[in-house]
Amino acid sequence: MSTIHITMPDGAIREVPAGTTAAEIAQQISPRLAKEALVARIQPVKGPPATAPGVSAGAAPDAAPEAQLGATGNGEGFLVDLRAPIDEDVRLSILTPKDPEAIQVLRHSAAHLLAAAVLELFPNVKLGIGPPIDTGFFYDFVREEPFTPDDLARIEKKMRELAAQDIPNERKMLPKAEALELYRKWDQGFKCELVEERAIDPMVSFYTTGKFIDFCRGPHIPSTGRIRAFKLMSVAGAYWKGQEGNPQMQRIYGACFYTQQELDDYLHKLEEAKRRDHRRLGAELDLFSIQEEAGPGLIFWHPKGALIRKQMEDWLREELLRRGYDLVVTPHIMRLDLWKTSGHAGFYKENMFGPVEVEKTDYQLKPMNCPGHILIYKSRLRSYRELPVRLAELGTVYRYERSGVLHGLLRVRGFTQDDAHIFCMPEQIESEVEACIDFAYAVMKTFGFDKYIVELSDWDANHPENYAGSADDWNRATSALQNTLTKLGVPFKRIEGEAAFYGPKIDVKLIDAIGRPWQLTTVQFDFNLPGRFGLEYVGEDGNRHQPLMVHRALWGSVERFFGILIEHYAGAFPVWLAPVQAEVLPLSEKFSEYAKKVTAALKDAGFRAHLDDRNEKLQAKIRDAQLQKIPYMLIVGGKEAEAGTVSVRHQSKGDLGPRPLEEFLSDLRKQVDSRAI
Ligand SMILES: [Zn+2]
Ligand SMILES: [Zn+2]
Repeated sequence: MSTIHITMPDGAIREVPAGTTAAEIAQQISPRLAKEALVARIQPVKGPPATAPGVSAGAAPDAAPEAQLGATGNGEGFLVDLRAPIDEDVRLSILTPKDPEAIQVLRHSAAHLLAAAVLELFPNVKLGIGPPIDTGFFYDFVREEPFTPDDLARIEKKMRELAAQDIPNERKMLPKAEALELYRKWDQGFKCELVEERAIDPMVSFYTTGKFIDFCRGPHIPSTGRIRAFKLMSVAGAYWKGQEGNPQMQRIYGACFYTQQELDDYLHKLEEAKRRDHRRLGAELDLFSIQEEAGPGLIFWHPKGALIRKQMEDWLREELLRRGYDLVVTPHIMRLDLWKTSGHAGFYKENMFGPVEVEKTDYQLKPMNCPGHILIYKSRLRSYRELPVRLAELGTVYRYERSGVLHGLLRVRGFTQDDAHIFCMPEQIESEVEACIDFAYAVMKTFGFDKYIVELSDWDANHPENYAGSADDWNRATSALQNTLTKLGVPFKRIEGEAAFYGPKIDVKLIDAIGRPWQLTTVQFDFNLPGRFGLEYVGEDGNRHQPLMVHRALWGSVERFFGILIEHYAGAFPVWLAPVQAEVLPLSEKFSEYAKKVTAALKDAGFRAHLDDRNEKLQAKIRDAQLQKIPYMLIVGGKEAEAGTVSVRHQSKGDLGPRPLEEFLSDLRKQVDSRAI
């Protein structure tokens, strides 16, 4: 028997008989590793391009995400079953729960476990596909009756039974004709279709889990016993192959992690997300609505929401002026020809509302503010002495989004961008980018975010033909973005080929109170529009030059940012933003005179106060103020009236005891002025 050489990650080389498996090598290294191992990564040391041993490249996965698993993953080698015999010299890593890529193999095996359990309980279902996803797995089934929550509970119980039996996941190679025969006999038409389409080679790869057999490239974990921390989450409709018009399937989703703790954390996060849902809180706190009568994706700001918006906008406008921006206002509807000049009528057409005809001329509802700002820039000849010109607008735009993707405040059809366009000279771009990043920081600090992710999107330098602007433009702008981030010590991820065709950009994603990322700030160069509109300035040399143009939005859209804030604060806005800052609660009617005095004093001092003079028990009034997430409740009775105090109760900190009214007012002043979070 020939021997082969296995190179381990630490460089050690083991000489073993050909056909040895990764499981056997793990066992030789330590029983503990053998116990923890889930899957192996191998990379042939020499020889032809990598294909998994015994797997022809054509042996197809049962869904696209699996192809990535079976193929190259980290770009080095491919994943194989621990039980796969190794026949040539390879580099080998044995993956355990410590390796991030192994979790997808576990989840994929959980999808098979789900299908095995469903088949035991509902033998007549037709099988679709079952890949791993970000937090777990799904499997698609066709069954006449819908799966009920009771069914899900039964299926999950059956999965636990099968997991406890520690059934091996075994790989089988079948000739294609035999595979088709097997599925035909079993009346699994969708699987036949997959085998027909995807299996190019004569041998087809299958996995069995007890009685269940699946056309699948794998790899899988050795047996079902390792699938412990999972939960079936929901059933959703899905089309076969994701195409409308194809047969409707029922997709059962499951969550799956290594440990119960990780699963519990995930479920807790989901609960938190539900509790914070801005659509629910928006209604409960009477902040905004979407009215079917007016149309989907269009936001009505109710008085309390509009008050918060005013605070947000006041802060922003002050900052804009302080930071050298000029405020402008541009029309909501402009000639369609303008959008032809800008190019939007071509490449952005699908996202625009259709044109409106007036006096035989087509007008276009604006999907962007840029052309408006460009027209203001162009309204007279600019000198280099004026640059940079920074034009800012809370500009409302309308974009067509399919009704299926609309989502509360986060995905809408009409929204207001905190938009700005900077026109500058090449030597000014670094300082302008730096100022934009500094402004973005101010937004995060002011609104209470301390974690974020920064991404720099660059062009694909191998395909300059796909982009506007010269290589010089791209290099200069990208290095300005990169230098600024480096200088400020901001960690960032550079993504090649992700830029829009017209220029590189920086994106800032905020991380909210429960760890979710939200795309927010964008600083985006544009090498396209200045040329299309023939923008110029007169340089120091007396000649005309084309300025550089930067689009920049900090919140992105007021509506979306408001939605994020509602969820981030779970509706409990900090006192400077809160629509009602203090609720005055008299102990009984007897003290209404003093309560009125306190309320008036708050209002005179410029605070948003409200008197709850309903004939209700104090406890009920406190509960209602809590539900409305009002930061301060001021309870007043005989003692308070006599001493000129208020008994302060804070929304999250609870009872803070009696305080002289004047002291409370000056304290509140400080909090509001400093925009304390
Ligand atoms: Zn599979
Ligand atoms: Zn723009």
